[in-house]
Amino acid sequence: MTAATPAPAARPSATAARAAGLASGKPNLFGHDRNGLRALLAQLGEKPYRADQVMKWMYHRHVTDFAQMSDLGKALRDKLAQAVEIVPPNTIFEKQASDGTHKWLLGMDGGNAIEAVFIPETSRGTLCVSSQVGCALACQFCSTGAQGFNRNLSAAEIVGQVWIAARHLGNVPHHQRKLTNVVMMGMGEPLLNFDNVVTAMSVMRDDLGFGLANKRVTLSTAGLVPMIDKLGEVADVSLAVSLHAPNDELRSELMPINRKYPIKALLEACLRYTQRRARTTITFEYTMLKGVNDQPAHARQLVKLMRKVPSKVNLIPFNTFHGTQFERSDEAVIRAFQKILLDAGVLTTVRRTRGDDIDAACGQLKGQVVDRTRRQEEFRRKLEGGVADAA
Ligand code: SAH
Repeated sequence: MTAATPAPAARPSATAARAAGLASGKPNLFGHDRNGLRALLAQLGEKPYRADQVMKWMYHRHVTDFAQMSDLGKALRDKLAQAVEIVPPNTIFEKQASDGTHKWLLGMDGGNAIEAVFIPETSRGTLCVSSQVGCALACQFCSTGAQGFNRNLSAAEIVGQVWIAARHLGNVPHHQRKLTNVVMMGMGEPLLNFDNVVTAMSVMRDDLGFGLANKRVTLSTAGLVPMIDKLGEVADVSLAVSLHAPNDELRSELMPINRKYPIKALLEACLRYTQRRARTTITFEYTMLKGVNDQPAHARQLVKLMRKVPSKVNLIPFNTFHGTQFERSDEAVIRAFQKILLDAGVLTTVRRTRGDDIDAACGQLKGQVVDRTRRQEEFRRKLEGGVADAA
């Protein structure tokens, strides 16, 4: 059953102003990692440790009002309130699924909205965050991809999603830790919003921020080869790669990005990522599409690919959405596919579908995208043209 939660209580006036399209123009502190915040405070003539104090208020106590930051002197509190602001995204609505999965629809400027989803499990709690409004990559089986692309999220908008969930959960790093993992698997392609995503992931992993371990922050990519190398240079986070097909012919049909970065180049970049960071494995995501990529021959091809990189495979039962021609593979077919991989020594899990009664499962996030790429029209035309065009 789906329980709608009432809209949260009144927000600080800056949020209301922003929701009404009246951005203040002041720097939003959610958009700065520790070094950035120190630099910003230095510009205001303040010592670096002031940044640390402010971060603790923001991320450990969920305070956004400078007036409440009682270990800062009154003069500094006033100075900060004048010069900068701390503004989370505006929650349009939130919903909780029968399995505890919680989804937020967050308003962005220009009539856009994005989604973030929290998935509680026995031993961990995972937040799935978005990196862009819409997505330009047009993967055929993805609801976000069908909607086109509007813009990148700012670092503040990415961090703000985590902050909203952490505040809702009463999360305090090292004490009350309901939020243990973040996956960049919501709307958008995180490697196409590189700098903002890297800044946001730095706040996620900072002890003065959300305090998550490196390996508990996962970036999922459709496979932008040069950006995987760039990520390896600057951040030590877990990497998940959306593979979804074991050969170039099929992968190019399902994921147009494969025409630019085919499987061989992608796997080589994955191998370099593991070598540079001495990470143990890359997770390869593989959405199970009935009759498309789920046959035993596909599994055997996949085994060969997985021998090239330290890897594990996560099979995702396809989550349907309005207008798609794809169907979820049968349970028995998924198990048979998994068995071929396991028998060949490839660590393979099947993702349990969570939150599908509130459309919060992988690939179902759609928010509200004011499409600048006109992909929605293209998608509708394809639908009218029949299955052969799209699949
Ligand atoms: N752009 C990134 C992250 C977003 S999608 C990426 O491609 O990895 C997160 C995962 O959900 C990806 O593996 C994506 O391919 C998968 N996915 C997309 N649509 C899906 C659907 N309808 N059902 C199941 N998984 C889907």
